[in-house]
Amino acid sequence: MESVVFGLDESSMSEGYASCALPVWAAAFNDEMIDFWSGEVLWNHDMANFTTYRVGGKAEAIIFPTGINELAQLLKGIKRLNIPCRLIGGGSNILVADEGLCGITLIVGRRFANIEVIKEVADRVYVKVEAGCSLGRLVAWCIEQGLSGLEFAAGIPGTVGGALVMNAGAWGSEISQVLTSVTVMDENGDYVVKDIDNFHYSYRSWGEPTGRIAVEGVFHLLRADKVAIKKACQQLVANRKQCQPKEASCGSFFKNPEHGKSAGQLIDEAGLKGARFGGAMVSPLHANFLVNTGDASAHDLIGLMKLVQGEVKKKFGVLLVPEVKLLGFGVNTL
Ligand SMILES: Cc1cc2nc3c(=O)[nH]c(=O)nc-3n(C[C@H](O)[C@H](O)[C@H](O)COP(=O)(O)OP(=O)(O)OC[C@H]3O[C@@H](n4cnc5c(N)ncnc54)[C@H](O)[C@@H]3O)c2cc1C
Repeated sequence: MESVVFGLDESSMSEGYASCALPVWAAAFNDEMIDFWSGEVLWNHDMANFTTYRVGGKAEAIIFPTGINELAQLLKGIKRLNIPCRLIGGGSNILVADEGLCGITLIVGRRFANIEVIKEVADRVYVKVEAGCSLGRLVAWCIEQGLSGLEFAAGIPGTVGGALVMNAGAWGSEISQVLTSVTVMDENGDYVVKDIDNFHYSYRSWGEPTGRIAVEGVFHLLRADKVAIKKACQQLVANRKQCQPKEASCGSFFKNPEHGKSAGQLIDEAGLKGARFGGAMVSPLHANFLVNTGDASAHDLIGLMKLVQGEVKKKFGVLLVPEVKLLGFGVNTL
């Protein structure tokens, strides 16, 4: 899913945001929200603190919604005022422009993270999880409860909401395979519970229109032996440690092409492991990880992305498409 943008389209935000003064809409926003919302707004805060890439400029305003009703009210107010807006979770699959983000960035995280068993039928247990719960916390909870189905997600960073939208997956499994339903909210704050059969889930996509928000999901899990579940999770985390670089990243940068070799294989065979652009580098350990070696800017990472796309296209005729979502700039990918 693209970032959620109301009022303006993403291209009109492409210059990013570089001022430190309060935005012109700040007073109107306070007036609009004062009667029903007393939450905190972080003004002019570094987005680098909210992404695993550790890069990105300032967001004009950041808000952390704490539940469905509050999110719905915020969205209504933001829409009425025509303020540009996007929503993120754990920031483990986004690259934010150095120029930052104008408007409001909603971050759904641990204040919006309830886990609840809603039904049990024999060995099958239905668990409702709010979008801001981290996948790590959910997997740990499943181990504790002796619930099997999400072992594959052990070690995937980010939130449940991000995983629902990205259809996060690993080791041949995807989040959509253990889903029963997802509560989907639109930009007006209206929401419906949609059965999994009514989605068009596919590789790294939930198939919903731009602007839709995953507010919670119901998973179907199976009662199983706690020790076995824990062992499986530990093994998968250990496998990850062996094949994934330690530097800051957003995981696999490019989607795997539908047919033929994986993105990592193509990048490797194009001789690009270790290639650098400023502080960004193609990991020598895993070619589909474009890492921040410490002082990379978003500009460096985009430069490296284009270099990799250009070389792979030249050598193999394949255009690699980013899996990572680019926020705050109109990037010309090849
Ligand atoms: C070291 C590392 C390893 C990784 N390994 C894997 C892996 O094995 N498999 C895999 O699939 N991914 C992997 N990833 C990528 C990432 O962790 C997943 O895509 C994750 O599901 C993103 O969740 P998030 O909450 O961080 O989303 P964010 O990065 O915050 O957002 C990603 C996108 O989803 C949108 N979004 C987020 N939350 C919502 C919501 N509630 N409603 C609507 N839109 C939303 C955002 O607008 C953005 O477009 C890895 C990343 C890292 C850093």
